[in-house]
Amino acid sequence: MTIGLIDVDGHNWPNLALMKLSAWHKAQGDAVEWWWGFGEYDRVYMSKVFDETYSPDIPEPLNAREIIKGGTGYGLDNHLPDEVEHIYPDYSMYPELTRETAYGFLTRGCPRGCSFCIVARKEGRAARKVADLSEWWRGQKEIKLLDPNLLACREHMDLLGQLADSGAWVDFTQGLDCRLLTAENIGAIGAVRLKEIHFAWDYMAESDAVLRGLRRYVEHGKKNRHGKFGSVYVLTNYDTTMEENLYRIYTLRDMGFDPYVMIYDKPNAPREIRLLQRWCNNRLVFRAEPDFYKFDPKRG
Ligand code: SF4
Repeated sequence: MTIGLIDVDGHNWPNLALMKLSAWHKAQGDAVEWWWGFGEYDRVYMSKVFDETYSPDIPEPLNAREIIKGGTGYGLDNHLPDEVEHIYPDYSMYPELTRETAYGFLTRGCPRGCSFCIVARKEGRAARKVADLSEWWRGQKEIKLLDPNLLACREHMDLLGQLADSGAWVDFTQGLDCRLLTAENIGAIGAVRLKEIHFAWDYMAESDAVLRGLRRYVEHGKKNRHGKFGSVYVLTNYDTTMEENLYRIYTLRDMGFDPYVMIYDKPNAPREIRLLQRWCNNRLVFRAEPDFYKFDPKRG
């Protein structure tokens, strides 16, 4: 068979499902390539992670006998078959983005069910182990971990141990759940070679639990190479006021974290929220001007 792949999002991030489909088809002896208009295909996979707000759909190709669409951008009920899900990804499909870097999940699902997030609906309302690190890592210098809520998984201490034993630089790309931090798991995180670590403070109603966890991290955790304890995602434009946004940003900064503004429904967000993101997420600007209301966007 000749297989064509289309990464509909086309963002600066490798599509894990397409890399696994490529690996599986190559293992069956099929020819796999990025789809192009002058090819002839037995099957074309179109994969789309983001919804229409961030990633508009594209027309279906005409030069394919069969088209299979998948990814959260096309709905929450499509999943790869087990034999594809657990194959070592074909990183050669994205040679630049995967140079010395492995991507994958050790756990899926999350018990929280935050109303703005699709994880619990798509992957289930519990964090469960889905792989050992060796399933998708073979000695690359860097690991990009995509788990939505690693600390909520019962086996998280073992999985943190696997990450530490790898000796690779680990980027926890999603927010670790700071409400689940303990002195013990902070110690296990500290044994990992940390490239980036992120937490999240999304709801004001969760402030006490979030702050308790972050204080625990300050007490037992290590600072990163920028002299901070890590980044904390601050969700805006969802159910918080500007005053509450600034309260979270200033509190995190004073505790030694880097606040990082995330905007819900960004294309329709008010200008003030976009300016807040521009000010806060640019570290040079943020350090040079500590007061948002004195931030001059023409200069910053
Ligand atoms: S804790 Fe994170 S992964 Fe879990 S539902 Fe909330 S936003 Fe999603």
